[in-house]
Amino acid sequence: MTFTRYLTGALVGALSMSAMAAEVNVYSARQDALIVPLLEQFEAETGIEVNLITGKAGGLLSRMQSEGAASPADVLITVDAGNLHRAKEAGVVQTIQSDVLQSRIPETLRDPEMQWVGLTKRARTVFYAEDRVDPANLSTYENLVDDQWKGRICIRSSSNVYNQSLVASLIEVHGEEATEEWARGMVANMARKPTGGDTDQLRAVAAGQCDIAVSNTYYYGRLLDSDKPEDQQVVDTVKAFWVNQDDRGTHINISGAVIAKHAPNYDEAIQLLEFMVSDDAQAYYAEINHEFPVVDTATVSDTIQSLGTYKAHDLNLSILGENNKRAVMVMDRAGWQ
Ligand code: FE
Repeated sequence: MTFTRYLTGALVGALSMSAMAAEVNVYSARQDALIVPLLEQFEAETGIEVNLITGKAGGLLSRMQSEGAASPADVLITVDAGNLHRAKEAGVVQTIQSDVLQSRIPETLRDPEMQWVGLTKRARTVFYAEDRVDPANLSTYENLVDDQWKGRICIRSSSNVYNQSLVASLIEVHGEEATEEWARGMVANMARKPTGGDTDQLRAVAAGQCDIAVSNTYYYGRLLDSDKPEDQQVVDTVKAFWVNQDDRGTHINISGAVIAKHAPNYDEAIQLLEFMVSDDAQAYYAEINHEFPVVDTATVSDTIQSLGTYKAHDLNLSILGENNKRAVMVMDRAGWQ
């Protein structure tokens, strides 16, 4: 496998375009550790060489746009339906024609026009300080704006696509006006100006800076699996609460992939994505980052199972992308930094 790290706006190292061996060129916004072992297994099973370029989601998308028809990209792997939708809107994708993907991936976790597919699933829920919050007082995202949580919530900034997608789901359920009201309530209840990533919110609860954090579950899973005493202290004192279990279910999202509009190796790209939804690949891919498989028949890791089962909001995730711009504006108007 060849690796190229994409760090700047310049084209770094042209991908080898050997006509001899079958190959597939992957642009990935995921950490190498999450994806490389899987790609190596794909190479071993199929003999198709994978050329991997790793970078940030936005940078890779811009790169595909500027490369245009000359782009070597076959597959773009990224997180969040919001980002996948951006790739679709940018016109750098093409229809993924595969009965395997269509039948293996639940309908809500792929684009209705098959412009992108989900490959792993994550939930965004509430975590609380066990010694300061009675979980009986927790219930829903909507409940977080209650006065009892004033100055007690930690959540990251509105520039983060995870929050944009959560707000996009609320817009779908409650409409824009009510969601803006909710966002104002969230801002009023924040313990501090949004700073850091999801893990930082969990750590802030453990440190007593706030009593409630909103985080994707896999960040908590990573802490659960960590040997570091400071991480163990977080999971010992901060617990997960599955929100909205008595109504629509907890907000979920995906990591996923698109096939590039000008993919030089379309068939190999399809083969790679089909490989990634096999039971074994699903179990591995989900487990390595403590996510959930999108394929129900794949096994779930012990760490993930320890969080318990939950009801997920059964929303077609393409809605998250469609409502993204409105979500950004809603949070902006609400003063969510
Ligand atoms: Fe993440």
